[in-house]
Amino acid sequence: MKYETLAVLSGLPEEDPHGAVGLPIYAVAAYGFATLEEGAERFATGKGYVYARQKDPTGKALEERLKGLEEAMEAVVLASGQAATFAALFSLLRPGDEVVAATGLFGQTIGLFQQVLAPMGIRVRYVEPEPDRVREALTERTRAIFVETMANPALMVPDLEGLASLAEEKGIALVVDNTFGAAGALAKPLRWGAHVVVESLTKWASGHGSVLGGAVLVRETGIWQNYPQFLEPDARGQVPWEALGPRCYPERVRTLGLSLMGMALSPFNAYLLFQGLETVALRVGRMSETALRLAQALVDHPKVQALRYPGLPQDPAYPMAQKYLASGGPMLTLDLGSQEAASRFLKAIPLPKAANLGDARTLLVHPWTTTHSRLPEEGRLRAGVTPGLVRVSVGLEDPEDLVAWFREALEGA
Ligand SMILES: *Cc1c(COP(=O)(O)O)cnc(C)c1O
Repeated sequence: MKYETLAVLSGLPEEDPHGAVGLPIYAVAAYGFATLEEGAERFATGKGYVYARQKDPTGKALEERLKGLEEAMEAVVLASGQAATFAALFSLLRPGDEVVAATGLFGQTIGLFQQVLAPMGIRVRYVEPEPDRVREALTERTRAIFVETMANPALMVPDLEGLASLAEEKGIALVVDNTFGAAGALAKPLRWGAHVVVESLTKWASGHGSVLGGAVLVRETGIWQNYPQFLEPDARGQVPWEALGPRCYPERVRTLGLSLMGMALSPFNAYLLFQGLETVALRVGRMSETALRLAQALVDHPKVQALRYPGLPQDPAYPMAQKYLASGGPMLTLDLGSQEAASRFLKAIPLPKAANLGDARTLLVHPWTTTHSRLPEEGRLRAGVTPGLVRVSVGLEDPEDLVAWFREALEGA
């Protein structure tokens, strides 16, 4: 089945006692057992439901749908994108391990590395996410390579296939933050060989800026045999790789991230995200068309010093975007030359200014003073953030209205 078909038909419960068309919400914390034997069986096998912190039917439906959409073997949904990134990495890394990560990552991912992983004895080295640069940064302690599908706000797309083959060669997991891949509607890193995808469902998957959510997705792989935590007996006395094979890693994410750390997704949020996925391809397709029109209309505007849109043939991201993305995508940036010009532009434009993405409304943000303000100036510039830069997450407004508003606001800048 193709993406759009899976988006509306997959993950639905096969049998509903009332014949519900759509996904019922199970607003329930615990699931009972009729007998001692049934309870024992559920605890022993992990099959069925026990307590909603570990697994619940509404979240399970979302996991099933995400598996189909991103071509994953297994999916685990969590409370937010941050929870997904943390659970995915915490399940892979031990004190003394290293991560090679792309420069220009999402700000809170860098915060997580510096304020949570570093005190745990895990070191992160940052390099341009090109296979040769990553190869040079690997050491015998590197246990993960971490990149994003599209750097924000630099809007560069890494060579995912090249990175995956390097990771495979070295027996190290390639973890890709696919938030900008819009739940597979724009990009599917697992198809190119990434071992793990982490993502925020808060953005394009939700689609309406209404709820938080995140997911960890994995493909079938034997890479886990290179990690001691899967070859040593676990708390139950079983060797995870022998007992579970390629499912040992997603099971560890579920045990650590959900059962033990409790970063569980609410069934209400799972329901809204499940619904968001039904229209994500339609929305992202339309947003990409509008973004291309905006980019074409503004690229030669005298007030715009630089415009970046991966769908423009002259853009530096274009070759990789052609290979890895279904379209040019819904994101573009304008450099207006100075913070003052950006400030005048943002005052004049009648659209929300917010540090979010993937909303039905076009959202604008000034990364220099907001999302990237905690980085030192030099770090901001390295991440492609300049004082005049405005980031645009294109929404579903009429393209002609948007072009007119951008042009008017630029006159004032
Ligand atoms: C928003 C975002 C996150 C974090 O997701 P939350 O759902 O807000 O926790 C992680 N990575 C990227 C690229 C994001 O844009």
